Amino acid sequence: MLQVKNMSFGYYKKPILKHIDFQIDIGEHLSVIGESGSGKSTLLKLLYGEMDVTEGSIFWKDTQILGPKHNLIVGYDFMKYVAQEFDLMPFITVAESIGKHLSNFYPEKKRKRIKGLLEVVELTEFSNIKVKSLSGGQKQRVALARALANRPEILLLDEPFGHIDNFKRRSLRHKLFHYLKANNIASIVASHDQEDVLPYADRMLVLHKAEIVANNTPEHLYKHPKTPLIASFFGEFNVIDGEIIYAHQLKIVDRSNLKATIKKSYFKGASYLIEADLNGENVFFRYSETITTNTIVCLSIVK
Ligand code: ADP
Ligand code: MG
Repeated sequence: MLQVKNMSFGYYKKPILKHIDFQIDIGEHLSVIGESGSGKSTLLKLLYGEMDVTEGSIFWKDTQILGPKHNLIVGYDFMKYVAQEFDLMPFITVAESIGKHLSNFYPEKKRKRIKGLLEVVELTEFSNIKVKSLSGGQKQRVALARALANRPEILLLDEPFGHIDNFKRRSLRHKLFHYLKANNIASIVASHDQEDVLPYADRMLVLHKAEIVANNTPEHLYKHPKTPLIASFFGEFNVIDGEIIYAHQLKIVDRSNLKATIKKSYFKGASYLIEADLNGENVFFRYSETITTNTIVCLSIVK
């Protein structure tokens, strides 16, 4: 398992991560979320040994992960990392790129392995295309497949679907996370997309101001968001009498003390998001239809 103990790090003395403590089990899937600049990428780089921690330690099982000061070659066989900005060799094919670190000793085995990985990242038809002619999203998928090639025990992914369009993202995400679970590969995924986290993460870790402010299951954090920051990750919410109320928890009722004046309706697919004024404060709730501006409605909190 991965054990991070009292880890701190800063660039030029500016603290970026302070006293980070957490662990994950074999095959466990952890999501790391936090605003842009909260240190997600820095955390992954430290876990991979790309930089030296200022304080504390990182272990995978019995092996201490050491940075460049103590380790000549960055990285370990059991751990793979796909950076936010990944680099691939442009002039080799997709298949060669994915198989780059696979042994040539058993060519048939290697061919099968590459074929399987091409399927996971949905690039079978691009197998013989040169990497340089791929789109950003396709390159990202090659980088993912290459990281999986030698069956790591733990995979670090930095916003793995950032370059991938919405059409492909859903099926790729599903296939990838399913593959990781089926092969008992632990993963740490920096993300800002709740679709990466809610259905697939065993735990989620929230970074804010250099510290971990929450570390729990997505379901627990969704149901008991301690702070507006955490709630905002899950969707529209309101703070009513100091309590966080998601938009879908506000319902229109016949009678109540919460009288709101409708400002605008936004189409959101399965329902509309309605913006209204409640005693001078903006509130948001969900409704099945649009509501005419200036209509007065009674709202009730239904949890
Ligand atoms: P995130 O991935 O959550 O967006 P990062 O880990 O990239 O956050 O960055 C965390 C903080 O560290 C930011 O304030 C960023 O400006 C700073 N930072 C990142 N890389 C460097 C660097 N190489 N030198 C100095 N500061 C950096
Ligand atoms: Mg980042």
